[in-house]
Amino acid sequence: MACIFCKIIKKEIPADIVFENEDVIAFKDVKPIAPVHVLVIPKKHIISIVDANDNDVLLMGKLIMAAKKIAEDLEISNKGYRLLIRVGKGGGQEVDHIHLHLLGGAYNV
Ligand code: 5GP
Ligand code: ZN
Repeated sequence: MACIFCKIIKKEIPADIVFENEDVIAFKDVKPIAPVHVLVIPKKHIISIVDANDNDVLLMGKLIMAAKKIAEDLEISNKGYRLLIRVGKGGGQEVDHIHLHLLGGAYNV
């Protein structure tokens, strides 16, 4: 599988992992655009939200709840943060594996 995020999941390429459970893994973005910039991804390879289906409802919820926990662990919850999912080429998505950007640690992210 050529997917770079699947390679991170399988630990075939390194990443700065900040959270991992059975379904979700999260790691620091290699080109951060905020003091805290973490990518939260499902371990299941789903290309984009367009490709998610009813079987993925719980998994999509788990992504958000993982982001919430990471934000608490990194102590940015009280200030607030942004959660961003780009969808498809028109949405600016560059990596074809669903990922939720957790952006925070600054007043303007
Ligand atoms: P997108 O534009 O698809 O929403 O975001 C893709 C993100 O993945 C970008 O912010 C980019 O910096 C990040 N990224 C791409 N390749 C890698 C990688 O190999 N390792 C890490 N940690 N982040 C990556
Ligand atoms: Zn993948």
